Amino acid sequence: MSELKLPGAPYIEYQNQTLMMEKVALNVLATKYGTPLFVYSKAAMTGALEEYRRAFQHRKARIHYAMKANSSLGVLRVFASNGCGFDIVSGGELAKVLAAGGKAEHVIFSGVGKTRAEIRAALDAGICCFNVESEPELDVINEVALGANKVAPISLRVNPNVDAKTHPYISTGLKDNKFGIAHEDAIEAYKYASKLKGLKITGIDCHIGSQITEISPYEDAVSRVLDLVDAIEASGIHIEHLDFGGGLGINYEGEAPPKAYELWEKLFELIDKRGYGDRFIFVEPGRSLVGNAGVCLTRVEYLKTGEHKNFCIVDAAMNDVPRPAMYEAYHSIVPLKAETVSPQTTYDVVGPVCESGDWLGKDRALNVQVGDELAILSAGAYCMSMSSNYNSRGRAAEVLVDASNEHLIRRRETNADLMQQEI
Ligand SMILES: *Cc1c(COP(=O)(O)O)cnc(C)c1O
Repeated sequence: MSELKLPGAPYIEYQNQTLMMEKVALNVLATKYGTPLFVYSKAAMTGALEEYRRAFQHRKARIHYAMKANSSLGVLRVFASNGCGFDIVSGGELAKVLAAGGKAEHVIFSGVGKTRAEIRAALDAGICCFNVESEPELDVINEVALGANKVAPISLRVNPNVDAKTHPYISTGLKDNKFGIAHEDAIEAYKYASKLKGLKITGIDCHIGSQITEISPYEDAVSRVLDLVDAIEASGIHIEHLDFGGGLGINYEGEAPPKAYELWEKLFELIDKRGYGDRFIFVEPGRSLVGNAGVCLTRVEYLKTGEHKNFCIVDAAMNDVPRPAMYEAYHSIVPLKAETVSPQTTYDVVGPVCESGDWLGKDRALNVQVGDELAILSAGAYCMSMSSNYNSRGRAAEVLVDASNEHLIRRRETNADLMQQEI
């Protein structure tokens, strides 16, 4: 067990059979704060950020943390205090960024359904840029900006339509999804935008998908976007910044995606060769900054043996860690105390929620007793931020670990919290 390289290593590792995050024993946190409990490593987050930083040294560039991956204030504060910008998708996210000390002028606003109220709030705050996803949205932002006596900085999210046959796992950069403006319509959309008095064109944007573990789809997307920039600038419209979105994958099940540094070293070769090396480069990483930094701790409540299947019933559920139920996603599940001799049994690890879809891991070999504590790994991204109160379950607490210190950044929801909004 101790030789196994865990997702999240070197920040999450066994020492003397005890699962540690940085210098803190996770079983101590489980006892102190209860379970289910999310725990995040600050050093893992800043370490992931550093990989991007290294790539952008000596470049005009800014990293915008895509905060939908994990929007807890304590996490946002880590990124804000390390000079990150933010990629937001709602007015609520704008409010949280500002509350966490993020700068409005380093915020970019993505999403296909921005409301007038959200657009107005972002204009009033003075954000850096709206990533516009359709022509009708151009009209709405223009109207809101004119009504507020402002000029809205915009970029168009284009859909590079990266070949699905070679990269079938890419889901948002293809023709038939709701995101972005089709490659072939982009130039007309830019020309149209350039005529609207409430808008100022500043950039171009793409985001081709998530959990991408290879470099080649990015190379395809970069070269398709630069083709468009050639054409847009030939029509007299200047593009100041190039935003290549997020999407870099992490290790859930042994995947070995390139480091941000390796990816960008390659992409800059391409960008430099095409003559765009001096433009301002934006990125919007989410998962790759926080995913491997977090774990969800849970306690075994019941072991149920069946004719065909054994169930390990834990106190975390689909409302806490929704990715398995939503995407059939894989998360490693490991004990907080590793036994040396392990006669293992195969279990489906499931939660208490009344849905067959409420599972956290299928067919996992575990040596567990009732009362043992487990860690669901790679749970820093798209878990807490997607959590719900389904089955009237209060949301988990969250702890941020920093070397040998721990900080409770969100207390566990109580039964009173569950009823607070109701009249
Ligand atoms: C979700 C999202 C991201 C971040 O994606 P990751 O896969 O978490 O890096 C970036 N940009 C946009 C527009 C998004 O919707």
